[in-house]
Order: sequence, then structure tokens, then C-alpha cells
Amino acid sequence: MYDYLIVGAGLFGAVFAREATDRGKNVLVIDKRDHIAGNVYTREVEGINVHEYGAHIFHTNNKKVWDHINRFAEFNRFTNSPVANYKGELYSLPFNMYTFNRMWGVITPDEAREKIEEQRKAAGITEPRNLEEQAISLVGTDIYEKLIRGYTEKQWGRPCSELPAFIIKRLPVRYTFDNNYFNALYQGIPMGGYTKMVANMLDGIEVRTGVDYLDDKDKLDALAERVIFTGPVDAYFGYELGALQYRSVRFETEVLDTPNYQGNAAVNFTDSETPYTRIIEHKFFEFGQQPKTVISREYSSEWKQGDEPYYPVNDEKNSALYAQYRKKAEAENKVVFGGRLGEYKYYDMDKVIESALACAEREL
Ligand SMILES: Cc1cc2nc3c(=O)[nH]c(=O)nc-3n(C[C@H](O)[C@H](O)[C@H](O)COP(=O)(O)OP(=O)(O)OC[C@H]3O[C@@H](n4cnc5c(N)ncnc54)[C@H](O)[C@@H]3O)c2cc1C
Repeated sequence: MYDYLIVGAGLFGAVFAREATDRGKNVLVIDKRDHIAGNVYTREVEGINVHEYGAHIFHTNNKKVWDHINRFAEFNRFTNSPVANYKGELYSLPFNMYTFNRMWGVITPDEAREKIEEQRKAAGITEPRNLEEQAISLVGTDIYEKLIRGYTEKQWGRPCSELPAFIIKRLPVRYTFDNNYFNALYQGIPMGGYTKMVANMLDGIEVRTGVDYLDDKDKLDALAERVIFTGPVDAYFGYELGALQYRSVRFETEVLDTPNYQGNAAVNFTDSETPYTRIIEHKFFEFGQQPKTVISREYSSEWKQGDEPYYPVNDEKNSALYAQYRKKAEAENKVVFGGRLGEYKYYDMDKVIESALACAEREL
């Protein structure tokens, strides 16, 4: 008999498992995949840690979370500075003085502000009604056309004029020469990969991979006093109220016989013609010097049941459906739902750690 059965060896499950074990509880962790670490899983290819479920950059303003995670890995000084490629023209991201200088030749922040204001006025937008108008009012027409429109339409599969403005409410725009994408106090990549970091969290804890909880629920439930479930909440209830929707991403990963393909970890392709949204060159997350390189092209795609769920679609319809599932989840006596799938919520890694620590505090 275990005190806790933890379903999911991702960050939420691993953080909870560590906390429970350190407080004297007996826990069993299971995952239906054949590996631990959930979506932050990294697989070693040609000596390079490949971010199998999408590029993951750790960033946080929460010192408690930063100190916590540093118990399990040493972090390098990686700073996320993506490059935008628009038909061969290269721009710095997020939008900053380097971007404005390349776009218009402006030198000072005042000149950049003036240029944006001029384009905003010319577009005649007072109350932005959609993403297109919101973007133009924040950064002007040129940046919208070259760096936002194509990329966003590929990402969402819909014209910007039909997307809600709130998606880019907080578009990072800086009037400084600063290519650091995240405004976070702490940032980096765990040296040796995320899988190693999660393995350190689960050190000494019983973990069974390749076990699907929902295939054998009664038998597995009988093993423990309490269950922490980090899988999809709708799957737990057999989709009885309908399936929650997601946006998905497809990755095409390739090993290339060159030490340096694009010179940066992330390059966004912002035109409409290139079918992928970006290329990740994994070695640069850890300043790799390997003779070969591994790249992943990312294609945004509609999600259908059975696909890997990535981004929850928090529109009205799905939020209302989730609210119903949540009610059912709260009524379960023995089971606690957590993490990005259990709560149908986009969580950055630091937020999911915060949430798992809070859950452990309540539970234990
Ligand atoms: C493309 C992409 C890029 C991202 N990039 C960043 C980034 O740069 N920085 C950042 O901070 N965050 C990033 N995130 C967010 C990050 O991935 C999440 O915060 C984190 O993975 C959430 O951990 P979790 O434990 O909740 O979920 P998961 O990692 O998904 O873990 C859940 C686990 O439960 C298992 N499971 C599900 N159902 C069952 C079942 N029935 N039986 C057994 N096991 C089951 C799954 O196999 C999975 O391993 C990104 C997310 C995406 C989608």
C-alpha cells in the first residue's frame, strides 16, 4: 500500500513526489509514456539534448522556485534571443531598438516611437477590435506585416483580422537595445538536459513507465490512499461531457552533418509562404560544440483526439466545458487533479512547480 499514487512523471508529478517522499510518505509514480519528465523530456542525439516536445527555456521571477529547481540541476546562462527571418531579412526579437534600426534605420528611442505613432495614426485605429488592429497600434504596420502577420496566422490557422486582440495584449516592445526575450530575474537551461533534472527529483522513488492509469484504474487505485492525477481531466471522466480542445504542434527533427546550421537556438520564419513557424537548433541551448547538429522544424496544427495535446484553447466554449469537468473533479474524494492537463491550463514550468509545491503544502 502506498500513501500516494502519482499519475504522470512530468514536472508536476515529480515535484509532488519529491515533496511527499521528503515528508516520509510512500509514493508510486506511473507514466503511460516510456520515459519520465513529461513534456520537458530531452533525449540525447549525437551528444545533443533534443527537446522532444518543443523547446523549453526555464525562466522565473520567483526566487523560491529558482532555489528549489537548483537543488536538482545546475543551470547555464542561456538567454532566449530568437531571430526573425522574413524572406531572408533577419530581425532581432523581441521587438527592440535593434529591430527598429533594421526596419527603419532609426537610431534613438524617440525616433522609433515617432515612426510607430505615425503608422498607427495612418492606420486610423482608435479602439483595436482584433489582433491585426491591436498589433498595428502597438508596433505599426511594417512590423505587423513583416514580423507578426504570417507567423501568427500560421500559428492559429486563421487570419489575424479574425483573431481576438487579447492574444497579443502584452506584446513585448522595448525601446532599449535588449534582445533578451524574457523579462525574468532568473533564466537558463539545466546542464545535461531536463530528463537528468527530473531523474534527480525522482531519485530513490519508485517509478513505473509504460503504465496507463486509465487502462487499469481500479487495480491501481487500490494500491494507494490518495491519487494525484496529472493527465487530461476529460480523459479521466471518459470524455462524458465532450472533449476539451487543444492546438497542436508537429515537429520534424533532423540530424545534420554540420556543426552550425543557423547560428541560434531559435529562428522564427515570419512570412506566410514558409510552412513551418520556426526552426530550433537544440545544441545552442547548451552552447554545444558537437561536430553534428540537430534541428526541429515546428508546424502548428489543428488538434484531433489522439494527437499530443499542447496548448489549451481557452475560448468561451472550452472554458465552460472545463468548468463542468472541474466541478466533477472537485467531487472526487480520493483524487487531486494538477498540472497543465489536469487543470486544462497553459502553465510555464515555474508556474507548474509553484502549483505542485502549493498542492504538496495543502495535501501534506
Ligand atoms: C510547445 C511547448 C513549449 C513550451 N515551452 C516552455 C518554455 O520555454 N518555458 C516554460 O517555462 N514552459 C514551457 N512550456 C510549458 C511546459 O511544457 C509545462 O509547464 C510542463 O510540461 C507542465 O508539466 P506537467 O507535469 O503539468 O505536464 P506534463 O509534462 O504533460 O506531464 C503529464 C504526464 O502525465 C502523463 N499521463 C497523462 N495521462 C496519463 C495516464 N492516463 N496514465 C499515466 N500517465 C499519464 C503524460 O504522459 C505526461 O508525462 C511549453 C509547453 C509547450 C506545449
